[in-house]
Amino acid sequence: MSRFVYLDNAATTSTRKEVVEAMMPYFTENFGNPSSVYDFAAKNKKAVNDSRQTIADALNADVRDVYFTAGGSEADNWALIATAEAYEEKGKHIITSKIEHHAILHTCDYLEKRGFDITYIDVDENGIIKLDQLKKAIRADTILISIMFANNEIGTIQPVKEIGAIAREHGIPFHTDAVQAFGHIPIDVDGMNIDMLSASGHKLHGPKGIGFLYIRKGLKLRSFIHGGGQERKRRAGTENVPGIVGLGKAVSMAASTMSERVRKEEEVRNYLIEKIEKTIPYCRLNGDRTKRLPNNVNFSFQFIEGESLLIMLDMEGICASSGSACTSGSLDPSHVLLAIGLPHEIAHGSLRLTLSEDTTLEDADYVVEKIAGIVDKLRSMSPLYEDFVRKNSHK
Ligand SMILES: *Cc1c(COP(=O)(O)O)cnc(C)c1O
Repeated sequence: MSRFVYLDNAATTSTRKEVVEAMMPYFTENFGNPSSVYDFAAKNKKAVNDSRQTIADALNADVRDVYFTAGGSEADNWALIATAEAYEEKGKHIITSKIEHHAILHTCDYLEKRGFDITYIDVDENGIIKLDQLKKAIRADTILISIMFANNEIGTIQPVKEIGAIAREHGIPFHTDAVQAFGHIPIDVDGMNIDMLSASGHKLHGPKGIGFLYIRKGLKLRSFIHGGGQERKRRAGTENVPGIVGLGKAVSMAASTMSERVRKEEEVRNYLIEKIEKTIPYCRLNGDRTKRLPNNVNFSFQFIEGESLLIMLDMEGICASSGSACTSGSLDPSHVLLAIGLPHEIAHGSLRLTLSEDTTLEDADYVVEKIAGIVDKLRSMSPLYEDFVRKNSHK
């Protein structure tokens, strides 16, 4: 039986047909540069600002506070580096968490090498930030708190509003990497005390290479890309008009269908979780059971090598992802799974399945059947598992 099931929507999503259709005219007939003065280019300028307005509405933000970037990584780099530079006279201390995306963690490494002091807050066994530790970490020279909205590996949603309130109480800017959350669950930058927010088009069925950084008015952030006067002189470069239009379309589709989509995704997600727990022994759900992205499932299977599981799932037409940093060619287990307290060997046997609204209950049945078969097969070849079963049967 050959079936194709794409369960790696946290890595990237399909670009919706409507999104591509909205973009097309901006490659062809409407190719003008939004900065040009003649009427031919006015359409493009308007398209860029319409998209900015759609995003602002989805965030409950002021339209002037939305700045387009070339994706989530750029927005994260910009937020951290430009805040560090703008506020370094006040202090050089930045607070973040141990489970951030590498776009944040590696930017923190970069800043650390340049004399900034970074505190990495711990998370509990479900991946939720320790608020007490956060409060205690704040110092007179703290200039930024950056905590992600929802985790890309285990799907845990942070108490963002509370974190923002703590930051505000101390007069410290609060940035959140919302790349996995924006377009998926409701966000309100005013109601949640958010000062800066990163998002990316290709994680919400928009195009790749386009995203934005929300910057609340009053923050002294410097320009990140130097050149022309685009994006209120804060991010130079001729606008990626088709990308911006596509992002706007994706955001408006995501916003108008959110509640129904969340309901659908949660139904399939919960079904998958329950079925895996019922069918496969010695597994563990990673991440919080309820404070969790509607589309995220993450399990560890004892006595299993995540990479082998992935390869065998691929042969069954299933695209998924593991918890180890396979892309970098290293065998280090995921920093997120280690941060929630998993031992190395359990972290290595992890599998992330991230759904979209297109994922059906039949897909879920197919996937669980295949995982169960593969796990059985891999365990039957594992001497460790054999030992474990023998010991347990003697008890
Ligand atoms: C994907 C992702 C990013 C990077 O976004 P790009 O647009 O691919 O650069 C940053 N943070 C999180 C949490 C992500 O999931």
